[in-house]
Amino acid sequence: MHNTGMGEYDVVIVGAGAAGLMCAGTAAMMGQSVLVIDHAEKAGKKILISGGGRCNFTNRFAGPGNFLSANPHFCKSALARFSAADFIDMVERAGIAWHERKHGQLFCDESARDILNMLLAPCRDAGVTFSLQTEVLAVKKEDHQFLIHANKGDFHAKALVIATGGLSIPKMGASAFGLKIAESFGLKVIAPVAALVPFTFTGKEKERLETLAGISLDVNVSCNGRSFSEAMLFTHRGLSGPAILQISSFWRPGDTLLVDLLPGTDSAAFLEQKCRERPQAQLTTVLCELLPRRLVPLLIEHDLGETRLCQLSQQQRRDLAVLLHGWQLKPNGTEGYRTSEVTLGGVDTDELSSKTMQSKRVPGLYFIGEVVDVTGHLGGFNFQWAWSSGYAAGMAIAEVQ
Ligand SMILES: Cc1cc2nc3c(=O)[nH]c(=O)nc-3n(C[C@H](O)[C@H](O)[C@H](O)COP(=O)(O)OP(=O)(O)OC[C@H]3O[C@@H](n4cnc5c(N)ncnc54)[C@H](O)[C@@H]3O)c2cc1C
Repeated sequence: MHNTGMGEYDVVIVGAGAAGLMCAGTAAMMGQSVLVIDHAEKAGKKILISGGGRCNFTNRFAGPGNFLSANPHFCKSALARFSAADFIDMVERAGIAWHERKHGQLFCDESARDILNMLLAPCRDAGVTFSLQTEVLAVKKEDHQFLIHANKGDFHAKALVIATGGLSIPKMGASAFGLKIAESFGLKVIAPVAALVPFTFTGKEKERLETLAGISLDVNVSCNGRSFSEAMLFTHRGLSGPAILQISSFWRPGDTLLVDLLPGTDSAAFLEQKCRERPQAQLTTVLCELLPRRLVPLLIEHDLGETRLCQLSQQQRRDLAVLLHGWQLKPNGTEGYRTSEVTLGGVDTDELSSKTMQSKRVPGLYFIGEVVDVTGHLGGFNFQWAWSSGYAAGMAIAEVQ
């Protein structure tokens, strides 16, 4: 079936973001008539700001282990059907220059706009219709059709794809629309939580940490059995940087972070060696060789800092090593959706087919991208999920109809 008249499409996709555009291009190239609705004034806004404007569009090592979900197996099928290698292939065929940074993260050489243009090209070539600045007011399923009632008119479709993303950055148009639609059709939703997000502190701890704002150092940070070795940044509000954003996905209110300030350094051996070489040196002076100068007085009491190395007892040296490799910090919260990069939780994967992203209860209804309870680590994984799930749904819709 194709254009059957005004407002009738094979598929309506709500959300012109990463997943929605991937799905639209895929289904349209397979001969489907596609309408993409978005309440924003332009498509792909998050793509444009991603990766500091260069879009970390995938990760060479993307695999199921890089995703959080109540069902960690759910993402496997879609990731296998459309992998990081498949997306790299698309990028290369589009002639987009890219480069690899650490941990397999791939970025555009020029601009994130290249990725958006690449996604829009098949939509344009295959005649996808866009209705931007459009609010969906109600959605109903009648017989085998969906009726999408919007402020710009009513649309009918055999398939409805919800690709409205997570709740992060409401200023950019993020909304709970997808979760509400899921619930209105009786689908279970896992409560959303801001993730890949900086931590905040209050009171005395905030005042202490504030004095370090601007300092960045490589650490290993652990919480709830997970740990990440990356940079940590002190901010005026608390802590940020890649190590912190990564661990935020595993942190729950009340949890304490364990920060190894000197990963890979045997600080006990270092202190022993310094004690032999410069027994009269003050502890602070020696620690400043390993750590940012402003951080040291925050870690150790003034008196201890002034102690000469030769006066330190073995127990004090041991205690120091424990502190340096396991500094405990208890955030009071996170900066929330205002700055979080993604949202944990979403439509319960139990409700969806892992091969097609179609609702098991409501045939023809699909959920893709961040609205689904699949959340990637930092490093290009969230876009890869958008591409893989968008492709899975786009192909499935074309195959069914
Ligand atoms: C600052 C920032 C940087 C990021 N950088 C990276 C990166 O480099 N690499 C990476 O992998 N991930 C990155 N991410 C995460 C990534 O952007 C998202 O995971 C990804 O965009 C999710 O794709 P999506 O299509 O599901 O949702 P989105 O891309 O968010 O698209 C959702 C679309 O739905 C529309 N919408 C929402 N509500 C409604 C509604 N009620 N009616 C109509 N339309 C609606 C929105 O306007 C939007 O166009 C970043 C996120 C942020 C916030």
